[in-house]
Amino acid sequence: METKGILHDDSQAARILKMTCDTLLLLKNDGTCIDMIVKTENNPYINNQYTLLGKNIFDHFPEETVRDLKPAIEHVARTGEVSNANYDLPAPDQLYFFKCIIQKYNDELLLCQYRDITKRSQMKRNLQMANERLTETGRAAKIGYWTYNTATRTFDYRGYTGILMKENERVTFTMDGYLKNVYPKDRERLEHFFGNSASSQMPIEYRIMKDDKLYYLKLKIVNIYRTDDDIVMFDGYTQNINDIVSKLDELKMVTQAVNNSNDSFFATKIDGTLVFANQFCRRQNEIPDDVDITKYKAYGEMGNFKDKEMWDNFIGALRANDGTLKYICNYPSPKTNMVSSCISYIIRNEYGEEIIWHIRRDISEQLRYEDQLKKAKEKAEESDRLKSAFLSNMSHEIRTPLNAIVGFSGIMADIDNAEERKKYFNIIESSNKRLLLLINEVLDLSKIESGTLAFDYTPVRMNDLFHEIFMTHQLYANQASLVLEIPEEETCIKTDKNRLTQVISNLLNNAVKFTPKGTITIGYRLIPDFVELYVRDTGIGIPKDKVDKIFNRFMKVDDFAPGTGLGLSICKTIVERLGGDISVVSEEGVGSLFSFRIPIEIDQTDSEEVQQQPLSNSRPQYISGENATILVAEDIDDNFELIRAIIGSQYRLLHAKSGKEAIELFDKYLPDLILMDIKIPEVNGLEAIKAIRRKSPSSPPIIAVSAYAFEEDKRELLDAGCNDFVAKPLDKEILLAILHRYL
Ligand code: ADP
Repeated sequence: METKGILHDDSQAARILKMTCDTLLLLKNDGTCIDMIVKTENNPYINNQYTLLGKNIFDHFPEETVRDLKPAIEHVARTGEVSNANYDLPAPDQLYFFKCIIQKYNDELLLCQYRDITKRSQMKRNLQMANERLTETGRAAKIGYWTYNTATRTFDYRGYTGILMKENERVTFTMDGYLKNVYPKDRERLEHFFGNSASSQMPIEYRIMKDDKLYYLKLKIVNIYRTDDDIVMFDGYTQNINDIVSKLDELKMVTQAVNNSNDSFFATKIDGTLVFANQFCRRQNEIPDDVDITKYKAYGEMGNFKDKEMWDNFIGALRANDGTLKYICNYPSPKTNMVSSCISYIIRNEYGEEIIWHIRRDISEQLRYEDQLKKAKEKAEESDRLKSAFLSNMSHEIRTPLNAIVGFSGIMADIDNAEERKKYFNIIESSNKRLLLLINEVLDLSKIESGTLAFDYTPVRMNDLFHEIFMTHQLYANQASLVLEIPEEETCIKTDKNRLTQVISNLLNNAVKFTPKGTITIGYRLIPDFVELYVRDTGIGIPKDKVDKIFNRFMKVDDFAPGTGLGLSICKTIVERLGGDISVVSEEGVGSLFSFRIPIEIDQTDSEEVQQQPLSNSRPQYISGENATILVAEDIDDNFELIRAIIGSQYRLLHAKSGKEAIELFDKYLPDLILMDIKIPEVNGLEAIKAIRRKSPSSPPIIAVSAYAFEEDKRELLDAGCNDFVAKPLDKEILLAILHRYL
């Protein structure tokens, strides 16, 4: 009770006054300050230096303050009413705020209680600004704020999401009402969130359906508290993330597209530092996915640009070209050696920084295709050219002997003189041979083209082979003399005898053709792993500029020389297929040396077996000399007539027109030799041979006659018991040689 007395005790008034916080100003009614007690903090107007004392407050205070304060002071002076208001006091260093309570002290004086509220006002102001900022941010980020009452299940909401409510609209709505707008699939989840997982503090995303359009929202509870009535309340916000989701979707789509592209995409700064690289680029440069790309430069390590200097040159070129450059890049990435077509362009990012985008497409494959296409085109053009050359060559090669055959056959019919007839006959025969050779070469060529040139490997005795060839060609060597050079010791190798014979014969025929007089030497020698065969002549030789091309198809030094220009190219193919190679050394006017090597595959087969091969020099047991009986199985009369013309004067001939008849005649007459055409009616040649061999396994010799027999057929015929073959059309010399061998 005593303490209460102190505040009411006038003698304590001065002390209490001293202890109060407000500054007191005693003003005249016109605003002149005549006394003051300063309690508040210093400021340029009210301070402990008493600068205001004796001055008129209206002159001393800033205009802005006076504008509000003056009317209040005048009002109090006039009416005696107490004024209580807040005022701004702008000073150069800061803005002060003060509360001023003005009371009439007496008729002349006014008492002003000046209370500094700068700090409080500042806080209030800051709060206000923060609030404004929040609202502004909410508006910009499309965020709505709310408080949710768990008891009433209602939201007190201020919306900025711009979906259901008007912007900044303050509304109250129920959870159930709100859920109606939520996309059905998300409703339960959202409700559950408010019921159970609200305390998780994790945001939840859901969708709102409005006017058939889906909106994406993110909701987060930021504060949970209880009211005095023990009701649980949630403070939180909802954000419209539609833009973010669709931008994210867009970004995802673009990133996915760029990442899955088979082109290399990367972006660099001007100094070459990488800022982006898609998966393809990373893979190619072996940059792991989780490694920060900015550690890399586009030059050096990545191998796209060799070094810094090249990079700088590239930037120079890019700038000189308006910031876009197309170029071909040959620099290999670490593993792949690719050629790429590139485009680089400068784009300024939103901070004004220049970023260079590079797109590279691997065109190695395309270039390979182009190259193949070019080669194919050249080949097609070449083969077109060759085809024309071939046709004109063929036409010439066919016409020349045909002319002779047709012309001289006609003349021969009217000529009685035997000598003259013989002369013409020789011309016709050599023309025949020329035609046959031509046909064989064309056939071989077509087999080479179609890849069906067959090879039949058997043991071949080299000395025997060379003897045979030597004998056959000796007659045709014209003026040149033929020399045989072979080792004393026989060598037996495994190869295709017919093909080998074909090559040597071809070279020998050429040598004969181009050696009007001089020497032609044929032979072979053994060299490590190979046997080397050669044909050397002292003929006209080949000009230097043609030697390299002499194995090309249709290549002829003299277009008017006989021949198709195919022989050597066929020889080359055969030799290569036999695993060897062929070459020529030649000097014009001196002669040529054609030599070829084939690998030695020494055959271990017993020489007896070799001797049993057809065309060997041994004679079978069942023989008879001239006037022996030969059974000719041939269904075409003209062909039989030809055989009769060739051998009819030396041998007794039996004619069977079918396989069946051949078997019957064999039974009846037991001929000394059978010439069996393979394509004959009723029972074909092969079956007839089999039937005869069943009756008589080893005799008589049976020679198969066939227009064109494949190696497989030959093998079958040999297995059936046939002894040898002779090709159609029949060559008189060859037929006679074979008959001599067996009879
Ligand atoms: P052809 O069947 O027309 O003779 P080749 O391919 O065998 O075709 O020969 C092509 C050309 O090579 C001949 O026309 C000739 O110009 C030249 N030639 C081949 N062998 C000899 C050789 N021994 N001496 C000179 N020239 C040759």
